[in-house]
Formats: sequence, C-alpha cells, structure tokens
Amino acid sequence: MMLASTASSRICQVSFEFFPPSTPQLQERLWQAIEKLAPLNPRFVSVTYGAGGSTRSRTHATIERLLTETTLVPAAHLTCVGSDRTTIETIAHQYWDMGVRHLVALRGDIPQEQSTEEALQHYRYATDLLTHLSTLHPFELSVAAYPEGHPEATSLRADLAVLKEKQAMGATQAITQFFFEAETFLRFRDRAEASGITLPIVPGILPVMNVAQTASFAKKCGASLPARLVELFEGLDDDPETRQLIATHEAIELCQKLRREGVEAFHFYTLNRAELVYGICHALGLRKPLTSATAS
Ligand SMILES: Cc1cc2nc3c(=O)[nH]c(=O)nc-3n(C[C@H](O)[C@H](O)[C@H](O)COP(=O)(O)OP(=O)(O)OC[C@H]3O[C@@H](n4cnc5c(N)ncnc54)[C@H](O)[C@@H]3O)c2cc1C
Repeated sequence: MMLASTASSRICQVSFEFFPPSTPQLQERLWQAIEKLAPLNPRFVSVTYGAGGSTRSRTHATIERLLTETTLVPAAHLTCVGSDRTTIETIAHQYWDMGVRHLVALRGDIPQEQSTEEALQHYRYATDLLTHLSTLHPFELSVAAYPEGHPEATSLRADLAVLKEKQAMGATQAITQFFFEAETFLRFRDRAEASGITLPIVPGILPVMNVAQTASFAKKCGASLPARLVELFEGLDDDPETRQLIATHEAIELCQKLRREGVEAFHFYTLNRAELVYGICHALGLRKPLTSATAS
C-alpha cells in the first residue's frame, strides 16, 4: 500500500543559531550542543555577533573552529552599528579568506553607551551594510525580518518596504525574529508576498523554556508573548523537566502548523542547548544518519 506524502513526511531543512561563548563552561556547552545537532545535517549554522563588535573575536573563533573541526557550513552574523567601514572591510576579508561564504548582515541594536548619532554615523541601516558587502565579495547574504514589525519601524508596511530593499540589494533569504503563533508568521508571509517580496522567509523558532527570560527577550525586540503561553508555564519555575516537555510540545505544534502551510525551512534559536531543538527536529522527521554498526 502506498502512503500519501503528508506535510510531516516531507523532509524539511533546518539551520541552527548559536552565540559565541564567554567562559570555558559555556564553550563546553556550545560544543556539546553542536555535536548533538550536527548529525541532523543543518543547511547552515550561524553564530551571532554583538552589536558594536563586542563579541568580534569570540564570533570569529567560533566560526574558525566550525570550519576546521566540523563539516558544517557556518554563517557569520555581522552587525554594522558603531563600526566604521574599515573595520567591516577587514572582517569581511578575514571571513572570505577563511572560507566563510555566508553572512547574516544586520544593523544591530544601538549600544546603550553610545548616542544614536554616534552609533549610526558610518552605517545607518542594514541596507548600507549590504551595499558595502556586495562590493567586497560575493557572499550569500541573509537578513533579518520582523513578523510583528521592528520596534523602531513606523509601520509594518514601512518594514516590508525595507525588506524589499534588502532583497533588491542582494539578500538571498530573510530569517525572522521569533514569534509564538503560526498565524503571526503566515500573515507576515502573505503581506510580504503581496508587496512583491520573493526571497525565502525562514521562520526563526525560539523554544520557550524559561518564560521570564523569553518575556524579556520579547519585550526588547517587539515580539508578543501570548498570555496562553505564560499560563502554560505557571507554577513550573522549579520543575525544569515539565517545562522542557511543554516547551518541546509547543514548538513542535508551531512547526507542524507552519509545515501544513507549506513552510519547509526552519531556523532555530538554540541558545546553545541541543535537547529541545533535537527533539523538535526529530518530530519534524529529521534523523541522524545510521552508522554502519546500527545499520547492519
Ligand atoms: C535572524 C536575526 C538575527 C539577529 N542576529 C543578531 C546578532 O547576531 N547580533 C545583534 O546584535 N543583533 C542581532 N539581531 C537583532 C538586530 O540586530 C536588531 O533587531 C536591530 O535593531 C535591527 O537590525 P536589522 O538588520 O533588522 O536593521 P535594519 O534592517 O536596518 O532595520 C532597523 C530599523 O530601521 C528601519 N529601516 C531600515 N532601513 C531603512 C531605510 N532605508 N529607511 C528608513 N527606515 C529604515 C527598519 O524598518 C527598522 O525599524 C538579529 C535579529 C534577527 C531577526
């Protein structure tokens, strides 16, 4: 009997985002996460970059280690806020010479210790960075998109116009800020399509494990945290196992809803932890390859 192919039986593509660790313990945790997730064959793995260059050497070191010790394809985030053109050029050349071919090009948040004018004197928007990078090397360029609008945007329509400009400047895909309801992404995708945006828009998935931390992330970036999600985690502050079960279930359901609507690529904000993301990917149908020992 032939089984009809369902959304969940189609292979989807995933990418994983990590942040560069600041201590040896965090470094160990990051590499444990990478080891666990690598066999799922992500399309790429990205490493964040602190605005104003605060993590420059750590981001660079993490990318270098990914290149030398793994077969994963790294994408280096690069923010331009607070940087001058020579610095950006040096970084771009270094990455190209190392073998990095994919950058996530961002403006970055304005650092608290700088005035807006000071921070934006060399690059005002991510589009300025895209323009500059395109003169240096033929990188694959991913950019950010905001299903609920960027907090500084005057309107969602203006934000979509920005995304369209990023597309015109050579961006090859957009990765979204996290969101918690499938409809939020789907509405955004529809509006993007209606405004002539054709580049792939990949949903950024943040599994909620710690509601207080997620609420604080969400507040900073203008994403809404649904009350039902807050309620779901009520009374579980001292119960990480149950929180993990619920977080995994929620994220699986979100991804499955998106798959039913034709979404076939997901970008996971891993926070350098593998457990939840591994489980979610498993439910999405991803498997590590069978080794010869287990295959026989
Ligand atoms: C997938 C993803 C990864 C991220 N990774 C990092 C990271 O590694 N490090 C980090 O510090 N931050 C990161 N961020 C956060 C990001 O840097 C912030 O959201 C930042 O405030 C905006 O960056 P951007 O590239 O979207 O900026 P932009 O696209 O420049 O947008 C910033 C604001 O300016 C407006 N704007 C843009 N262009 C124009 C224009 N031409 N005219 C008028 N208005 C305009 C936009 O509407 C928006 O309100 C990430 C965000 C996402 C979604």
